[in-house]
Amino acid sequence: MSDLTPQVRRRRTFAIISHPDAGKTTLTEKLLLFSGAIQIAGSVKARKASRHATSDWMEIEKQRGISVASSVMQMEYRDCVINLLDTPGHQDFSEDTYRVLTAVDAALMVIDAANGVEPQTRRLLQVCRARNTPILTFVNKMDREVQEPLALMDEIERELGMTVVPFTWPVGMGKFFGGVLDLRKDQMRVFTPGEDRVAGTEEIVEGLSNPALADRFGAPYEQAAGEIELVREAAPEFEHEAFLGGQQTPMFFGSAVNNFGVQEVLDALVDLAPAPGPRPAIQRTVEPAEAKFSGVVFKIQANMDPAHRDRIAFLRVASGKFQRGMRMKVVRSGKELRPNTVVTFMSQKRELLDEAFAGDIIGIPNHGVLQLGDTLTEGEALQFTGLPFFAPELFRSVEVADPLKTKQLRAGLTQLGEEGAIQVFRPMLGSMLLLGAVGQLQFEVVAHRLEHEYGVKARIMPARFNVARWVTCDEADGGEKELKRFIDGNSHRLALDAVDAPTLLLEYAGELRACQENWPKIKFHALREHA
Ligand code: GDP
Repeated sequence: MSDLTPQVRRRRTFAIISHPDAGKTTLTEKLLLFSGAIQIAGSVKARKASRHATSDWMEIEKQRGISVASSVMQMEYRDCVINLLDTPGHQDFSEDTYRVLTAVDAALMVIDAANGVEPQTRRLLQVCRARNTPILTFVNKMDREVQEPLALMDEIERELGMTVVPFTWPVGMGKFFGGVLDLRKDQMRVFTPGEDRVAGTEEIVEGLSNPALADRFGAPYEQAAGEIELVREAAPEFEHEAFLGGQQTPMFFGSAVNNFGVQEVLDALVDLAPAPGPRPAIQRTVEPAEAKFSGVVFKIQANMDPAHRDRIAFLRVASGKFQRGMRMKVVRSGKELRPNTVVTFMSQKRELLDEAFAGDIIGIPNHGVLQLGDTLTEGEALQFTGLPFFAPELFRSVEVADPLKTKQLRAGLTQLGEEGAIQVFRPMLGSMLLLGAVGQLQFEVVAHRLEHEYGVKARIMPARFNVARWVTCDEADGGEKELKRFIDGNSHRLALDAVDAPTLLLEYAGELRACQENWPKIKFHALREHA
């Protein structure tokens, strides 16, 4: 056991994911409240509002009532350090979310009990499933008229392809929501509406078959008891290994706005979610308790504060110990970095950071030295893998209104591309730049930011492409030589992306099939992992 093992073991790093409006912000705030990181409810919402006020480009966010930026919060609970990563709910920013999901060890999925599994939840879950990320499920809004719990459970299982293991079960709903039966502790926790109650003050009735429950809660209790019978017969036992492998999800019912069911989720995170584990790099697997520091940049956010033109790289510590003032090497460029204002995100204020361990998220202000996917070490040449870039599905060409601003346009787009706000392609023929996005809103954000942050009025126009695939060729199939042959034969529809990876651009999906048939040795990728 290394000196760092106890610090690693007490860390939990997770993302909270949901479809917009399911209650993610509310639950986040309640988690902070129950952990003691904040004293009063309302501050997360307030922060949302103040961010609008201070950040210019987030006018878009205000206009559309969506959360564009992800953020990071740290809290302590029961001797654990919990790092909570928020994710943008709007699907147009899902690429950003996917990258955030590479930095966590577990995810908490919030489901609106009235709406069940919604499109954005489904998309996010696919990413979690692809990475075998363990998922906890919180079914929210039980104080409203919602779907029957058995139907919800069935839907989650079917839609997400996971076995759901209920840890609690609701008694009634809406006006008749009586609380939850805790299947593991053999007790009922009684619901009382209101935001004032904090940890440990709920009324508890011992014994799931306590006759007092039938007397007090009547038909909803009888129904819940009958459903539990069914569930116990049909659902398998909870297995920790199956949860860790992403095959089983424990399910909790509650009402975030009423502080109900929140503590169970916090406890489950501490008890069930994994501590940071080993992370794969190209060269070797890196263990979290290794003495030497390493980490990977999974998110970049520029100009958070327009007055300072800052750019913060969010880095997940993968191993070792970060200490203030230490020297770090950016492996890609070989440059040395010695930032003296590294920040953490304790209780939503940026605070100067003294030390951090595997699983922690640190923010490094910089002026473009750090890019998405960068690995930082104490000197070792390591490159972590797995940060995804998705083949864009929407394309636009971009031009400046004032030709004298071409340079600024390129500079702005390069930065926004490095930040991951948009993908920028340089076609092999012609000089027009192409933008690629997963969601329409990304183009609007980029046009807005180009104007407000870089002083460039850009004309964003339709482009004829609809499909992109990164192309490679294995050594065994001819490698670089075969790839060059393909590129030369298709230069009218090839472009280079931000890291000069050759990309095939097509008008129709059908062309891709033809291309695959004509060039069997070339591989066409819808996903690029930064290396
Ligand atoms: P987000 O978009 O997922 O972050 O959702 P919010 O946390 O902003 O919540 C969306 C709306 O649902 C807000 O009006 C909340 O007050 C409301 N809400 C959240 N949790 C509950 C709940 O348990 N019960 C009810 N009735 N409303 C809730």
